[in-house]
Amino acid sequence: MSDLNACRHFKGMYPDDRPACAKGRDVLAWATRCNGGSTIGIGLRLPCTKQRGSTEKSLFDCPELDRKTQEEVDQQRAAMSAHMDRFVSALPKINDMKARMIAKGARTAKTTCPWCGEKSALRISVAIGVNNHARAQCESCGEGFIE
Ligand SMILES: [Zn+2]
Repeated sequence: MSDLNACRHFKGMYPDDRPACAKGRDVLAWATRCNGGSTIGIGLRLPCTKQRGSTEKSLFDCPELDRKTQEEVDQQRAAMSAHMDRFVSALPKINDMKARMIAKGARTAKTTCPWCGEKSALRISVAIGVNNHARAQCESCGEGFIE
């Protein structure tokens, strides 16, 4: 998830081991130059990610800075929260399935995906005899996790 009120051009701190800008600006080089040649602490002082109301001074002023609005940030937050709720709500079902698999000694099983509802789309495998950890992935919606 991107930072709150981040610039909409900001693509994250380390997709490529350097802060990335959709406008192609070399944020790392710019910030390092303005930070006396050091990269220490630049992450907190990029204009791209500076929080609204923060008193921390930005390392430089970007003429293309275009912050997300509070409304966009709220929407993003709500979408993330809804996604998490949906994700977490499926876990008890998967846990029950895992318990039944362990009881039967079944290492793999397919079941209806608790996220998208697609029949036989969720593949679950349990490392029975190892650590009983489960891995689940839906072949339809792609949702899943590794325990
Ligand atoms: Zn699914």
